[in-house]
Amino acid sequence: MSTMPSLFIAHGSPFQLEDKPWLAAMHAWAQTLPRPKEILVLSAHWEAAPTTIGAIKTIPLIYDFYGFPAHMYRTQYASPGAPALADRVQALLTAAKQPVARAPERGLDHGVYVPLLGMYPHADIPVLQVSLPSMDAAEVYGVGQALAPLRNEGVLIVGSGFLSHNLRLLREYPTGQHVPPWAVEFDNWCAEAIANHNIPALLDYRNQAPHVGKALPTHEHFVPVLAAIGAAEKAAVTFPITGFGPGAMTMRSVQFG
Ligand code: ZN
Repeated sequence: MSTMPSLFIAHGSPFQLEDKPWLAAMHAWAQTLPRPKEILVLSAHWEAAPTTIGAIKTIPLIYDFYGFPAHMYRTQYASPGAPALADRVQALLTAAKQPVARAPERGLDHGVYVPLLGMYPHADIPVLQVSLPSMDAAEVYGVGQALAPLRNEGVLIVGSGFLSHNLRLLREYPTGQHVPPWAVEFDNWCAEAIANHNIPALLDYRNQAPHVGKALPTHEHFVPVLAAIGAAEKAAVTFPITGFGPGAMTMRSVQFG
């Protein structure tokens, strides 16, 4: 079995599901990857300590957004559960002396099903979601490191977030056009640090990244990239999707390996 890459995906809001070119790009990206046996996702939209394993059977999705059109609360993604993967995650985290919990009633959130509807629209691959234990960069990176052996077991590890995410800018920059220079500078810094596996810089991004206060007033969307890179030390880096969306948010998505 070939080693699976790990991914970081700029996931988008439920409106992303109406962006046909993005869905097509996500699908095309998935077609270039070995078909995963299982998919493990850490999403910006679930922070719980200690690291928590979500539902291991198919249960309803979580519509964790407010004031969206009614049909967006009817989206389905009934992927099979991944109980064996849950046991492996628990064993690997325990072996790394990281505490782990279970939340069997916690369904997949939009940070998981929005990108997967693009990549694997048939929902026929088992999916497991695991929480971010905190917003601490080193801690999230450590979770990725602990889970790295799964890449040799056919598991696609996905960090789902956004490298920049400031919802207050949606009014100022309603489309992906007219990207302000600071956003480009921030995106370039991320690209360079990620491409070079500059782990010290990435772990200290709150001090080192330019314009970080504007790009990331909160940190939940950034830290999933640290799980993805932690799982794929020294792997080759490519950026299958780049550019900017509404709010001057970078759509940059990363493949490690
Ligand atoms: Zn989000």
